[in-house]
Amino acid sequence: MLDTFAIDIQPTATSRLAELDPANMEFGKLFADHMLTVEFTDGEWQQPRIVPYGPLTISPANSALHYGQAIFEGAKAYRQADGSVALFRPLDNWRRLNASAERMAMPTVPEDIFLQGLRELVKLDAGWVPDTAGSSLYLRPFMFATDGFLGVRPSEKYHFGIITCPVAAFFTKPVRVRFEQKYVRAAPGGAGYAKNAGNYGAAMLPSKLAQQEGYHQLLWTDASEHQYVEESGAMNVMFVIDGVIITPALSTSILDGITRRSVLELARDWGLPVEERRVSSREVVAAIQEGRLTEAFGVGTAATIAPIATIGYEGHNYDLPALLDDAFARRVGAALEAIRTGHAADPHGWMVAV
Ligand SMILES: *Cc1c(COP(=O)(O)O)cnc(C)c1O
Repeated sequence: MLDTFAIDIQPTATSRLAELDPANMEFGKLFADHMLTVEFTDGEWQQPRIVPYGPLTISPANSALHYGQAIFEGAKAYRQADGSVALFRPLDNWRRLNASAERMAMPTVPEDIFLQGLRELVKLDAGWVPDTAGSSLYLRPFMFATDGFLGVRPSEKYHFGIITCPVAAFFTKPVRVRFEQKYVRAAPGGAGYAKNAGNYGAAMLPSKLAQQEGYHQLLWTDASEHQYVEESGAMNVMFVIDGVIITPALSTSILDGITRRSVLELARDWGLPVEERRVSSREVVAAIQEGRLTEAFGVGTAATIAPIATIGYEGHNYDLPALLDDAFARRVGAALEAIRTGHAADPHGWMVAV
């Protein structure tokens, strides 16, 4: 990290902070005053700038719009017990952004632009980091192609930006999900491990159909047999069966979630049995029927931990037992929250002060 790295800062003349109502924060609606922008031209990243949040001008022939060269990240900044602000595992987001960039034939972003850009931006908009329990400032780094050229080839120009928005604690009603056995989110060798925009676009119809049937989300299964669990919407998924924490092993069709990684690290710290392997829908359903499955939950930056209440499979709904107070999902959610807000020690060095 270069302390001397200079970012041009053009502060806003009219802060919108007064519009922020900590009691009514809807995800992704109200953005903080500033954004980071950096252009990639002539084979290199240009001067990073922090400017007032606002529209961008793009060519109608922009190749991200036509061919989908667009990727993003999701991270959070947390108000600390001492009033300061810190980022959770931002370098993991940086590495994953670059893994996504490589898969999409886009340029990688240097660490100093990403990290220093994020820190300067959050420092400038620190007043937007809420301090109510479970709240945070959601950080959305993103990159897209900007060539105004309809030929199909990797763009020569790109925009890297970061926008941020305050978010409340994500109180999920226990989630209803169903195994998806027709549509596919990602296939081996595809781009499922990349956080690229197209993965989301293609998931919208199947997700909408599931919502019309009363489910909140899908449990995606593998592309060839529709048997093995992959992940759920924008979350990875975990099960506790016979006291063992089980999650699908990573592959080219599964997003390598930072929450997933953090939960597994804490489970291992606590000496709990963890298995990263293939998990079939039949195994999950049998374990529910036999009373051996005690927990199922999604893990991701937005919700942290989203307990699953019901799983649909082949036209039947299987209700899961209510989570006990000492359930792993609850304990690990609380432990993560304590580390993120500076209320507990951070033995893995996950937090980065802004
Ligand atoms: C972002 C994302 C996740 C969760 O990753 P986190 O780093 O934990 O937020 C899981 N699945 C998909 C498809 C995602 O895009």
